[in-house]
Amino acid sequence: MGEKLAGLFGRKDILTIQDLLYFLPRTYEDRRRVLNVSEIAPGSRVVVIGLVARSHPVFYSKSKRRAFEMNLNDVNGKLGTLKLTWFHAPYQTKKLEEGTYVLVTGEVQAYRGQLQMVHPEIEILGKVLESEASGQGIVPIYSETSGLYQKTIRRILRQAVKDFASTLPDPLPEAIRTRRQFPKLSQAILDLHEPSPKADFDLLRDSKTPAHRRLIYDEFFHLSLSIALKRRDYMAAEGIAFPKPEKFWVQMKSQLPFQFTNAQKRVLQEILEDMMKPRVMHRLIQGDVGSGKTVIAGAAALVALEAGYQAALMAPTEILLDQHFKNFGKWFAGLGLECVKLTGSLSAKEKREALQKIEQGQAAMIFGTHALFEDEVKFKNLGLVIVDEQHRFGVRQRARLVQKGRSPDLLVMTATPIPRTLALTVYGDLDISVIDERPPGRQPIVTKVFTEKQRSLLESSILDQLKEGRQVYIVFPLIDESEKLNLKSLNEMLPHLREVFVDFKVSELHGRMKAEEKSGILEDFRQGKVHVLVSTTVVEVGVDVPNATIMVVEHAERFGLSQLHQLRGRVARGTLKSCCYLMASHLGTTEIVTRLRSMEQTEDGFKLSEIDLELRGPGELLGTRQSGEPTFSLARLPRDLDLLQAAKADAEAIVTEDPELRGHATLRDSFKHRVDKALMN
Ligand code: ADP
Ligand code: MG
Repeated sequence: MGEKLAGLFGRKDILTIQDLLYFLPRTYEDRRRVLNVSEIAPGSRVVVIGLVARSHPVFYSKSKRRAFEMNLNDVNGKLGTLKLTWFHAPYQTKKLEEGTYVLVTGEVQAYRGQLQMVHPEIEILGKVLESEASGQGIVPIYSETSGLYQKTIRRILRQAVKDFASTLPDPLPEAIRTRRQFPKLSQAILDLHEPSPKADFDLLRDSKTPAHRRLIYDEFFHLSLSIALKRRDYMAAEGIAFPKPEKFWVQMKSQLPFQFTNAQKRVLQEILEDMMKPRVMHRLIQGDVGSGKTVIAGAAALVALEAGYQAALMAPTEILLDQHFKNFGKWFAGLGLECVKLTGSLSAKEKREALQKIEQGQAAMIFGTHALFEDEVKFKNLGLVIVDEQHRFGVRQRARLVQKGRSPDLLVMTATPIPRTLALTVYGDLDISVIDERPPGRQPIVTKVFTEKQRSLLESSILDQLKEGRQVYIVFPLIDESEKLNLKSLNEMLPHLREVFVDFKVSELHGRMKAEEKSGILEDFRQGKVHVLVSTTVVEVGVDVPNATIMVVEHAERFGLSQLHQLRGRVARGTLKSCCYLMASHLGTTEIVTRLRSMEQTEDGFKLSEIDLELRGPGELLGTRQSGEPTFSLARLPRDLDLLQAAKADAEAIVTEDPELRGHATLRDSFKHRVDKALMN
C-alpha cells in the first residue's frame, strides 16, 4: 500500500503484515440478502441497494441543526424512494453524483408517509454495478478511523489474506491443534476476514465460530505459557530455606487474645512449608474482608525475623499502614525487634534515619507505603516481602520491591475477591491459599438500601445504635460539592450530621488531611472518643475498629459491588451485631437495582464478584487499579472459560515436558513476539 494509507493503518498500530492479518473485524453484517428500495417496509433492519437521486447538506432553521440528506431510487426503476439522513456523519459531507450505486444498512422507519433511515451505514459502490456488489454474503465490519473506511480496509485485507494468510506460521503444536479440533491458523484468519456465505451468522456475531475459538484459545495459550514459564523460573531459582521458628511464634501466640481458626492454621502451615523450602515463595492469601489475614502476615514475618532476616510489609494507605504498625507492635512485644515506618509523610530527617536503619539492618520489620519502591531504599538482608491489599498495587511495583532483596519470599494478601475465572489470569503466577472461614462469633450483617425519602428513618436507626454505645462510619463519594455532579458531599452534609447527632462526637476523615491529623482522628475513633466518623473511601481498605457497627454509604449507587463489599467489611469485625445502610439517591437503572439488591442478599464476596463480572465485565471489575493485567482482544470471560482452562492445561503440559521450548521453535518465536510485557516484567 502507499505511504499515506500505511500511515493511516499505522495509527491503529498496524505496522506489519502480521498485524494486518490480526486486525480482525469488529462485527459482521449479513448481506446475503440485499433488498431493492421497492422491496422494503418500515420496522426492520435491512441491507438495501439503491441509486442516488440527490444528495445535499441541509440546514434546519428551526432546530439550527446541520445534516446531510440523500434520496435513493430503486435500481430497477421501480416505484419508491428511501430518504437517508445523517446528523453528524463526518465523512458524509460530499455530494454524491446522481446515478451512483450505494449500499446502505439500517433500520427502516416511516416518517410522514416517507420511508427513511437515520444514520445508516453506507458503502459507495460506484457508477457501475459490479457483479459482487449485491449478494455480497457475510461482510466483515472493521473499526474505522477518519480517512480509513470500510471499503479500503476490506480491499487491503482481502489482498493481504489472499497473499499472506497461508504463510503465517502456526505456533500451536500440531498435536494440540488436532486434539482440540481447531482449524489451522491460516484457515482461522481466512474465515474471520472472509466468512463463508454458508457460515452461521449468529455464531459469527457472538465470536463463537471455530475460527474465533481457535484465536481465543491462542490468546489464553500465550498467557498461560508465559505464566507457566515464569513459574518454572521461580521453581528453578534458589530461595532462602528458613528454619522453623522456635520461640517467636510461641511468644506471639501468648499475646493474642484469640485462637487461630482452622482456616488460618491451614494457611499458616502452607506458608511455613513454602518458606522452609529452598525455593522462592510466591503465595497469595485470598480471604474475604475480616477473615483475619493480618495476623497471618505477622506470623509469617516472624519466620523470617527469627532467622535474622528483614521483612517488609507494604500497604496502600497510611491509615492502614499505621494500623498494621500498631498491631505488629503488640504481637512482637518483648521480642526485641525494631519496627520502622517509611511513608511519604516523614520529615527529611526522619526519612534519612529510617533509610539508614533499613540499610544497616537495625530495622527488622519495615512498614511502608509506595515510598518503599523508591531507589534510595536499600535493605541489608530482605527475606520476606508482604503486600497487603494487592489489588491496589501493580504487578510491576510488587516486582520492584522483591528485587531489593536476594530472592526474598513473597506473600501477597487480597480481600478483593476475584471470581475464580479471573483469578486464573490475574493471579496465575501465584500459589493461592484461601481463608474460607471467619473468626468465630461474627454475626451476619444486616444490609438495607435506603432512598432519600427514608433519610430520617435511617438517622433515627443510627441514633439508636449510638445510644447503645456503638460507633458509625458515614462514607461520601466526594469531599466538596461538585458543579458537574449533583451529589451530596462530605463538607456539605457535615453541619447537618453534627446537628442530628448533636450529643455525639462527629469527626471527619479524608485524603486531603495531613497524615498526622488522619491517624489522630482514627486513633480517637478506635478508642471510642469519636462516635461518628464521616469520611471518604479512605476507610475502604483494612481499617479495623470492632466497636463500629454501622456503615452508611451515601450515594451507594455510585460504587461498584467490590467497593461496597469492602466498605461493608469495616463492620462486623467483632462479635457485635452490625448493619450496612446503602443510601441511594436514585435507583435509576435496573443495573443499579440489581447491584444494591445483591448487597442485601449476600455477604459472600466471591458471589458478589461473580455478579459484578456479569454486570460490568472484567475491565470494570479490575478497573484501573490493577495494572499489568493481561488484556485480550477477542477473549471474554466468563464466556470463554472453557478455552482458558484448556489452554492452561496444555501450556503447563508443554512447559513440563519441554521447559526450554526446544522442540517448539515456532511457538517460541511467536511467543517472544507476543509475550505480554507486563507479565514478564
Ligand atoms: P482482614 O482479613 O480483612 O485483613 P483482619 O486481619 O484485619 O482482617 O482481622 C479482622 C479482625 O479479626 C481483627 O480485629 C483481628 O484481630 C480479628 N481476628 C483475626 N483472627 C481472629 C481469630 N482467629 N479469632 C478472633 N478474631 C480474630
Ligand atoms: Mg486486611
